[in-house]
Amino acid sequence: MTNPLLHTEGLPAFSRITPAHVEPAVDYLLAENRRRIRELLESLQKPTWLNFIEPLDEWDDELERAWSPVSHMNSVVNSDDLRAAYNACLPKLSEYGTEMGQNEALYAMYKRLADSDQPFDEGQRKVLDNALRDFHLSGVDLPADKKTRYKEISQQLSQLTSTFSENVLDASNAWSKRLDDVASLAGLPQSALDLAAQTAQQRGEQGWMLTLDFPSFFPVMTYADDRVLRREMYEAYNTRASDQGPHDPQYDNSELMEQILALRHEQAQLLGFANYAERSLATKMARSTDEVMHFLHDLAERSKPQAERELAELRAFAAELGHDDLQPWDVGYYAEKLRKQRYNISQEEVKPYFPETRVVPGMFEVMSRLFGVSFHEVEGVEAWHPDVKFYEVRDPDGHEVAQFYFDLYARPNKRGGAWMDTCQSRRVTSGSCQLPVAYMTCNFTPPVGDKPALLTHDEVETLFHEFGHGLHHMLTRVDYPAIAGISGVAWDAVELPSQFMENFCWEREALEHFSGHYETGEPIPQEMFERMLAAKNFQSAMMMMRQLEFALFDFRIHREYDPQQGGRVYEILNQVREQVAVIMPPVWNRFAHGFSHIFAGGYAAGYYSYKWAEVLSADAFSLFEENGVFDAATGRSFLENILSKGGSRDAAELFHAFRGREPQIDALLRHSGIAA
Ligand SMILES: [Zn+2]
Repeated sequence: MTNPLLHTEGLPAFSRITPAHVEPAVDYLLAENRRRIRELLESLQKPTWLNFIEPLDEWDDELERAWSPVSHMNSVVNSDDLRAAYNACLPKLSEYGTEMGQNEALYAMYKRLADSDQPFDEGQRKVLDNALRDFHLSGVDLPADKKTRYKEISQQLSQLTSTFSENVLDASNAWSKRLDDVASLAGLPQSALDLAAQTAQQRGEQGWMLTLDFPSFFPVMTYADDRVLRREMYEAYNTRASDQGPHDPQYDNSELMEQILALRHEQAQLLGFANYAERSLATKMARSTDEVMHFLHDLAERSKPQAERELAELRAFAAELGHDDLQPWDVGYYAEKLRKQRYNISQEEVKPYFPETRVVPGMFEVMSRLFGVSFHEVEGVEAWHPDVKFYEVRDPDGHEVAQFYFDLYARPNKRGGAWMDTCQSRRVTSGSCQLPVAYMTCNFTPPVGDKPALLTHDEVETLFHEFGHGLHHMLTRVDYPAIAGISGVAWDAVELPSQFMENFCWEREALEHFSGHYETGEPIPQEMFERMLAAKNFQSAMMMMRQLEFALFDFRIHREYDPQQGGRVYEILNQVREQVAVIMPPVWNRFAHGFSHIFAGGYAAGYYSYKWAEVLSADAFSLFEENGVFDAATGRSFLENILSKGGSRDAAELFHAFRGREPQIDALLRHSGIAA
């Protein structure tokens, strides 16, 4: 084999991978896998773990090892050719995935294995249960007529949801506002003015142009002194793809929303669920729809009084400036002014205390103290760019347990933001042990001259967050790839380790390890640290209520769907708002028409997960607050009970094993500065 993507030993050969290798490798592996799986199913008399699951894992692994460097390079060293090759493979991979989920012979073999009297360990049992569950959720075990209907619905849904998001996008793109006089944009920061001028220029227009893209919309709502302008943009944004506001009726999502809700409901019932909310929970940590509703109501009840106080404060502040009658399009504007007056903290002020040269080794030290692991840079491992570093992770006995690539700096053709991705998964078979390998990617401003890269506190927090995911992937002790690391972890629990790690960025004791002025080494002044903390929790209860409004709305429209009455989208939204909104939007607000997360994305009846995972991570961290931020026994217990266990047991059990009880919301409220 001369194609480096088909080289199945060791780390990817990045220096030899070219766009021309991508499609042939994927085509070859997909064809090979189809053939091998067909032959395996035909030849197997009696499936066992060894003769059935291990080869399937092996072939999946080959595909992952070929595809992961491609998809990674597409993100970090993008080129036209690579993107074309990458995009050409996406539909092939998704078709293969659907085909496997619908493969009846494959399902039957899994079932035979699961029903046999062979002894399975706990992890193997979990792998089989998950697989059977996923086959069931894809409709493979339905009677023929229902199966046909199931497939029809799936196809319709994929079309309707994609039209939904196209409508949002098209309606957004169709709206713009040109201004001749920069004075009408008074209050906006220079960066927003530059963007508006650049947008006008790109469209061959004079002056300044505003659009509904977030980088244009958000600064107007936050900084524009012109109240009429704020109202106009608020209206345009919050009526996108609806029957209201300035938009073309051809983009109206009203009918699509009804159809999507109806079809989801029907499909859930085909599978034996009472409604789509129940279907959504089949793969999540939350056990019942009642539990989710109770959870959201509880948080709302305990946050609302403070949210009302925060709003009253904001009203009073606006009134002092001569503005009574606070409207939704005023909230962001006065909030920013109040925040500035009170805390006057800027990321620029904080940056000199977070040089990369201190943050990165300091973060490694924090993780060492907590989990007993150590980090060692390895020279000479080939990567996709000269700036990339490579590390080994060793356990307390000095054994290598994982590896990762560390790509720190922003550069052209690299996607923005920070993330963790999987290069290889941990997989232990009768004959071999493959260690987990991660890609850790950031976009820090590169160092200039002798001055190290300086990070904002937000960037430091993001780095800790992503290393939480990274540790989950790398410190796993589970041998079966389907449930090792982040694989097979319930969706509403997968952010537990990452959000957990963020907490260390707000602990004075931990900060000492990874902060210090880049010139003097001085620690962050206590006064500055306190302002940072206060600014973090500014209006947190109002923010909490807003997230709860989205989450309750999402969950209720899926849970209460009734074919007789239809979706009742705004009826339910209004009920939710009566209950939790502190500031009532105008009657023409059509927020739901642009809520792509739930109508077009993966968050349907799952938006609550954001808060759910936050509660888990805050509550887990509270044990460290009780026992000491660096208490070694608590750190080892977190490693033992949660980080290393991946998806091998239910998230609720793992949490219980670590915390000794069910999750409680108190720690999250306390960390958010909400006194409940
Ligand atoms: Zn995350």
